Amino acid sequence: MQGAAGLLRWYLDQGVDEAVGEQPIDRFATPAAAAAAPPAPVTGPAAPAVRAPTPLRAPPPLPAPRGPVPIESPQLVEDARALAGRCATLAELEAAIRGFEGCALKRTAKNTVFADGAPGAPVMVVGEAPGADEDRMGKPFVGVSGQLMDRMMAAIGLTRDGGFYITNILFWRPPGNRTPTTAEQGMCLAFTRRHIELARPKVLVLAGGVAVKAVLDTTEGITRLRGKWTSYALGDGTAIPTLPTFHPAYLLRTPASKRQSWQDLLAIDRKLKELG
Ligand code: URA
Repeated sequence: MQGAAGLLRWYLDQGVDEAVGEQPIDRFATPAAAAAAPPAPVTGPAAPAVRAPTPLRAPPPLPAPRGPVPIESPQLVEDARALAGRCATLAELEAAIRGFEGCALKRTAKNTVFADGAPGAPVMVVGEAPGADEDRMGKPFVGVSGQLMDRMMAAIGLTRDGGFYITNILFWRPPGNRTPTTAEQGMCLAFTRRHIELARPKVLVLAGGVAVKAVLDTTEGITRLRGKWTSYALGDGTAIPTLPTFHPAYLLRTPASKRQSWQDLLAIDRKLKELG
């Protein structure tokens, strides 16, 4: 039991957090084994047949759509914007998102992933999209990258208990982590903009290039923008100091970049002290 738990922990540490088939496929061994196998004799007694490479399993079919299939159209983005605009509190916004049936992503997701942490906290972090763990638990940033995010924020004294509030630009996990369509992004972004408006953080942190591009409506990449303060304008003209920073999933793949993220954390800490 100890051994099995240890193996699972090791898989998680390596980023293997989802089972996609019942049998593992060794994609390195299969072609090599076939190539290394001795050629079948031309004559003589029947030799054991060379095993064909294990065929790839087709992915399981997507769950059937629940209810009427929503049509993706610019009108739905407008509907999302109008609905979000009518929400006067975070609770109303959450209820509106949970009840919104216009986004196709919702059909395949297990849960709506709204936000976590302290509403009204000085820092609001906006990431990209729920992954498998977040989809299962209905909370943003609870997987390995979320745990890294928590450790990073804790290093400057911020926890989800009161120091920061966290969400994503998408409220539903894209199936197979596919890229969301423009309409899906537009609908979610309409809600996210209202989310920032209602949370009114002192400082907004955009984690990763996808969130930066969407929220700041820019084509500039994260490498150029990270660590540079900019501002995000609320509807009433209030400018929220905003810092693009690397996504923790990127830091897990590229630990050498943690040095720059540490600079970003120190900059957030300084900004909060400056703002009082
Ligand atoms: N990555 C994100 O951007 N958001 C999450 O909630 C989890 C992983």
